[in-house]
Formats: sequence, C-alpha cells, structure tokens
Amino acid sequence: HVTMANSFTRMMSGRNTATAVMLASVGAGTLVSGYLFSDSTAAAERKRLYPPSADFPDLRKHNNCMAAALSPSIYAHLRDKTTPSNWTVDQCIQTGVDNPGHPFIKTVGMVAGDEESYEVFAELFDPVIKDRHNGYDPRTMKHPTDLDASKVTSGVFDERYVLSSRVRTGRSIRGLSLPPACTRSERREVERVVVTALSGLKGDLAGRYYSLGEMSEREQQQLIDEHFLFDKPVSPLLTSAGMARDWPDARGIWHNNEKNFLIWINEEDHTRIISMEKGGNMKRVFERFCKGLKQVEHLIQERGWEFMWNERLGYILTCPSNLGTGLRAGVHIRLPFLSRDPRFKKILDNLRLQKRGTGGVDTAATGDTVDISNLDRLGKSEVELVQLVIDGINYLIECEKRLERGQDIKIPSPIPQFRK
Ligand code: ADP
Ligand code: MG
Repeated sequence: HVTMANSFTRMMSGRNTATAVMLASVGAGTLVSGYLFSDSTAAAERKRLYPPSADFPDLRKHNNCMAAALSPSIYAHLRDKTTPSNWTVDQCIQTGVDNPGHPFIKTVGMVAGDEESYEVFAELFDPVIKDRHNGYDPRTMKHPTDLDASKVTSGVFDERYVLSSRVRTGRSIRGLSLPPACTRSERREVERVVVTALSGLKGDLAGRYYSLGEMSEREQQQLIDEHFLFDKPVSPLLTSAGMARDWPDARGIWHNNEKNFLIWINEEDHTRIISMEKGGNMKRVFERFCKGLKQVEHLIQERGWEFMWNERLGYILTCPSNLGTGLRAGVHIRLPFLSRDPRFKKILDNLRLQKRGTGGVDTAATGDTVDISNLDRLGKSEVELVQLVIDGINYLIECEKRLERGQDIKIPSPIPQFRK
C-alpha cells in the first residue's frame, strides 16, 4: 500500500509540478480527479449555472492581503479551475472571506489546499505573496536556502530582557493534501510517515511522540502553558480554513527528552519543526534547529518521501505567509519602556519585525513582555532572517536601555523592499 501511494502521488505531483498542472489544464487532470471524486462534476455543473460575478465575495469590510488583491476579473478567471486533487479558489479564500480582519496582526486571508494551488491559482496567490513578503516577486525571483548556523553573529542576547528564544519552520510532505484539504487517511498518513522517520533521531535529539488523542486534558494544557504545544483549535483562522476538521485525530507533538527540539504534527501544516529554550542564546537555538532539520529531512527522504519545494517559492506551506524558509525566529522579550513608546510600532515595521502576544498569534500583546519575530520568510535565507532578527532585537534592547536612562531613541530607516 505504501509503495502504491508513493508512486501514485509521485506521478501526480513530482518535483516537476508545472507538468502536473499543465496536464490538469488540458484535461488529463479531469480524468484523474474524476476517477477519484465522482461528485466533482456535479458541483462544477451547478456552479456554471451562475456567472462568476454572481459568486464574487463581499469584501468591503475586509483588511487582509487576499481582499486587497482579489478583483472580479481574477475571480472570473479562477472560479471554475481546480487543482489535480480537486481544490478550488473559493476553498482557498474562505478563511479570508469569513475573517475580515484579525485583532492583532494583518492576515493573508487565504491558504493552499495542496502544492498545486500555488500554480493553478497563481494569478491571486502571486500578488498576495508579493504584498506579504516585502515585494518579493514569485514569478521572477529565486528563493535561497542557507542552514549554516555558524554564519550568524551577535546571537546571544542580554537575558535581563530576553526570556526565551525560538526558531520554527514548517515542512509539507509532497503528494499529500495540506491540512485545509486533506482527507482523514491523508492526515493519518502524514502522522505515520513523520513519526516513523523521527524514531531515527539519535543522541540529544532522541525523543518520542505524544498523540493528542491519547493525552489527558491536564497534560495537554500543561504543554500549552509551557509554550511547547499549539493552542486548542479555537482560532477562527484555523477553523474557517477547515484545518480543525476531525480534531484531535492524527494530531500530536513529538519532542526530544530535553524538550528543546519539538515537532508539531497536523496543526496548520503537516509538520512544524521547532527549536527553543529559555534565555537569550539564539545562536545555539538556531544551531540545533539547523542540525535537527537536516536530520529530519534525511530521515523522511530515506523512506522515499520528500518535502514540497520549488525554487521560486521555496518550501511550500499552507499559508502563503510561511512560504520560502517557513522560518519564524523570535524571542519573548521584556520591554517596559519601549513597548509603551508611540514609536515602537514604526520601529518594528522598519525592521520588518512582528509583535505577538506571548500566548501565540491569537493572544493580545499585553503587559511588558511580547513575542518579537521576523515578519517575512521568503526571498531571504534562514541565515539572513535569523541575523535580521538578532540585529533587530539587539537594536530594541539598546532602545530600551536608552529609555531607562531618559535618553532619546531613533527610528531606524526601513529595510529595503525586494526589487527586480
Ligand atoms: P507559530 O508561529 O510558531 O505557530 P504561535 O504564535 O502560534 O507561533 O505560538 C505558538 C506557541 O509558541 C505559543 O504557545 C507561544 O507562546 C509559543 N512561542 C512562540 N514564540 C516563543 C518564544 N520565543 N518563546 C517561548 N514560547 C514561544
Ligand atoms: Mg501558529
């Protein structure tokens, strides 16, 4: 069964995604998906009774990247297209239609259902990606990867300010639909493939898997409170995108014995890979991240699977905000003076940093301690992004110290946008 699933998915979505997409658009895809999903034609027929303009969503109150990019003409081009696994643009944008805004961050407003979504619906994804990633043009630019942690400098922060350091990314298993679209069997297959591979981790990375379904409520809550585990499926971004279906089936967390290398399974992405620890040693956190991530990729590949990736978009994840490196390097940092200063927001914007609450993206940043991380993940390598965060955090700490002493601070000039 495994071999069959393997060669079948390979056939549909090998590294040469463009071919799969081209085939789909000339009709071979209809054959494949018609064979898999017999109800698809009926749905498509029903839709065509009305013109796309009659289906155009009401986005007048919206503030997300999708709402800004989606025009009636783009929608008209895309409404009746499907990916080889039968995913539609309406399914991609549902989360952004249902959530006009987010109380704490500017959201993207759309997700991918599979690797091919980014190609079939490129007319909408591309401008959204460009808007979200500081001008990166996914049609003309190539994304770099660099996991050589020895290159970062000044990566140990003053621990009077920095309480914890964390680097995470996501990785998707090629050939299996992403969490908004996956079937139960695909989700369980992700869990099986990843957990089997992770048992190959040795030494200080050795650990075990904790399935959400087998965890007690207390154990789960404790892992959340300690910041190790994703929240319960309460976020409307998650639920509207269809990512909380069947919860907690096939979800869980794998972690090493020291709890400083962790892998989330089947939350917003197939996998999230995390290195974290208390204190300010971002350099060490990034070193462990790079080492662990390379081993995980090797173990997955040994079993005949690979990650979704292409040279323009980098690693393919569910949310366009995570394309490229998928990397969010961040700290929990105490900034009692700066966080109350009216210039704080502008400083963060110019340094391309994002502020979150310490309970995660859906919590308010209240009090003196906030989560600060890189805003962009695409067009710059892992090393560049971590260095950008390190330099930015050191700058914030300098500002905080100056404000403590009653001295003035400066708003730094903005980090330049990508240009062709
Ligand atoms: P992600 O982008 O990784 O999904 P979220 O904002 O959803 O991050 O938060 C997920 C969890 O990770 C939350 O429990 C949050 O408190 C924790 N977390 C994020 N950054 C840090 C950090 N620097 N130190 C400790 N915990 C963190
Ligand atoms: Mg999250």
